[in-house]
Amino acid sequence: MIEPASHVAAMSAYALADLEAPAGKSLVSLSQNESVRGPSPSVTEAVASAIATAHFYPDPDWVELRQTLAHQHSIPFEGIICGNGSMELIAALAKSFADETGAILAPRHAYPFFRTAALLARARFDTAPEKDERVSVAALLDAHRTDTKIVFVANPGNPTGTRIAREDIVTLRDELPEKTLLVIDEAYGEFADHLGEPLYDLVERGDTVILRTFSKAYGLAGMRVGWELFPIAIAREIQKVLNPNNVSVAGQAAAVAALKDQRYMRETCDLTAALREGLAARLRSSEFDVADSFTNFLLIRFSDGEMAADADLALRKEGVFLRAQSGAGLPHCLRMTIGAKADLDFAASLLESWKEGQGR
Ligand SMILES: *Cc1c(COP(=O)(O)O)cnc(C)c1O
Repeated sequence: MIEPASHVAAMSAYALADLEAPAGKSLVSLSQNESVRGPSPSVTEAVASAIATAHFYPDPDWVELRQTLAHQHSIPFEGIICGNGSMELIAALAKSFADETGAILAPRHAYPFFRTAALLARARFDTAPEKDERVSVAALLDAHRTDTKIVFVANPGNPTGTRIAREDIVTLRDELPEKTLLVIDEAYGEFADHLGEPLYDLVERGDTVILRTFSKAYGLAGMRVGWELFPIAIAREIQKVLNPNNVSVAGQAAAVAALKDQRYMRETCDLTAALREGLAARLRSSEFDVADSFTNFLLIRFSDGEMAADADLALRKEGVFLRAQSGAGLPHCLRMTIGAKADLDFAASLLESWKEGQGR
């Protein structure tokens, strides 16, 4: 029989959301942190005209997209690398800078794909405790070993939704050895940009990477476009492990058009924040424990894993899907994406009836 490579056999398949509404119910998915609304109308137009050139391979160097990103964020063109979603870049970082001789370190409740990336690279995966679902720089430094090749931190975090200040990231970087690559995944960065703490300047040190994506605030999860700002001196290494032509013609056109409509993206962030804070206030007034969030989702904490599973089931029965968080070491939590107001209201009312049922 054909056997997979041992490190692949040891992995479990990426846990996709199980999204099937019971018969007669319509599906309400609040499970994948998809944007509350579609992309800017200018994206739809740009993609429609780009399709006419789909018989050509896409630009392998993403030149127009990189120029637009460089201009938008005042960052060097040469340091920008684009990916088929930022997940491609996370896996490529692990495969380029870690192997079986070392470890990848992340906070305990980090984005579960960091672990998958470590396994793909055959690296050991270490975690550091968090405090109240917040990244602890002290704990990360404590968990760092001489063979730690990469430290992954998502800021704001997923599924926690919490954020650590620039000052703490700078401390982490200063205290880590220069030979440890620090990767800061800012998939939700746009939702926190108004706080005015960009980290792009850290990349100039040569040992830090910033990751962003078009999947969240730009509403382009289905187009699969992510990017990273990379130290120029080591950029060639990661390009070796990316697929050539990794971002499609449509994906590149969509991302450029999305970037050029900053007002639309900011409106999406404002709309998301207003819905999120309204939902958080409603759930808190019904005595749910909801963490502060700087993202397009809320983390709801239950008294234990059984309670969370019970609430999850009550919602699923009505076709409403949140995301359970055992994979991130938070079995007592459910993550709820900020979707349309009517869907959020429906989910909140189901949670409230569930809670009343618990009291009886
Ligand atoms: C959603 C998400 C990503 C994945 O983004 P893609 O660009 O869609 O691959 C990466 N990191 C974190 C923390 C995320 O939540």
